[in-house]
Amino acid sequence: MKKHNFSAGPCILPSEVLQEAANSVLNFDNLDLSLIEISHRSKNVVAVMDEAVALVKELLGVPEGYSVIFVQGGASLQFVMTPFNLMKAEGGKAAYLNTGTWSSKALKEAKRLGNAIEVASSKDKNFNYIPKGFEIPSDVDYFHTTSNNTIFGTQIKDFPKAEGLNVCDMSSDIFSRQINVADFDMIYAGAQKNMGPAGATVVIVKDEILGKTGRDIPAYLDYQIHIDKESMFNTPPVFSVYVSMLTLRWLKGIGGVAEMEKINQAKADLLYNEIDRNSKFYGTAEKEDRSNMNACFLAHEGVDTALFDEMWKAAGISGINGHRSVGGYRASMYNALPLESVQALVDVMQEFEKK
Ligand code: PMP
Repeated sequence: MKKHNFSAGPCILPSEVLQEAANSVLNFDNLDLSLIEISHRSKNVVAVMDEAVALVKELLGVPEGYSVIFVQGGASLQFVMTPFNLMKAEGGKAAYLNTGTWSSKALKEAKRLGNAIEVASSKDKNFNYIPKGFEIPSDVDYFHTTSNNTIFGTQIKDFPKAEGLNVCDMSSDIFSRQINVADFDMIYAGAQKNMGPAGATVVIVKDEILGKTGRDIPAYLDYQIHIDKESMFNTPPVFSVYVSMLTLRWLKGIGGVAEMEKINQAKADLLYNEIDRNSKFYGTAEKEDRSNMNACFLAHEGVDTALFDEMWKAAGISGINGHRSVGGYRASMYNALPLESVQALVDVMQEFEKK
């Protein structure tokens, strides 16, 4: 029996996806060769890349005029590629909404290349809310947001929109809820939450915004090069793209993002209702901003957390320790986590309260 895997990332993937991936590592497409020991330019691997791109477009309803690419370097490299590709070389300016550790890191990288400003921050309350009602200067090249704050458990529900380009890091909630891609000029996400194993990062970019900064962009950092080479400028992270493709097939099979959103809402409601009801615990994020992916909660003063820790471990639960900067607990409920796992955690919380 597998554990109830609440890991924050890398995280749970559907078991049927893991099974098929395991088979393909041994013998891919009946070639009598492993997926990871053949050329990325072989027709079977090119077909994987094409299907992965097509599934991203289909599942997110990516409109005409956008390209979808897979690159390496994680979302962290996107913190660098974004300003390289979108911030003007002369007088470049960008605005960042600082909602947590990852937004702060993205902002820091952009500052190396130009005038990157923080339009608002929730640092004053350890990032437990999403700032609202701030001004975004009209003269910025782009405005950057982070849709879901993986560490502190907040999520943007209504995306603020800038007059300039709108860029979003959706690493920890892509494919978990419906989004209107046309509201964004660029979206990026590391694979290792709702999509697949670490290694690949998906970038969805509006073609017309590229090539306008006057910057000399190093080849690997240039989106246009990856688009022109159909994500095969250099050796792509074949295994990560393949497992992402399988996961996206699985998502399509269960009814796509709209269906997934309903399931994720049910999981989040189940856990948050218990956190709010249970006298031993309390949620750390502001209710209106809390994340359907990562639920952060703490035990009240004087509660015997050692006993709680023993109990959830005995129930086969894994990965609910909070991030070191927050402490307490963080239950991540990514797409592949079944409702039964959330119920198992809720049962332990209720049993613990009675003890
Ligand atoms: N952005 C967000 C929202 C994340 O959750 C993470 C990783 N947890 C990152 C960026 C950094 O991603 P990577 O490790 O792929 O560079």
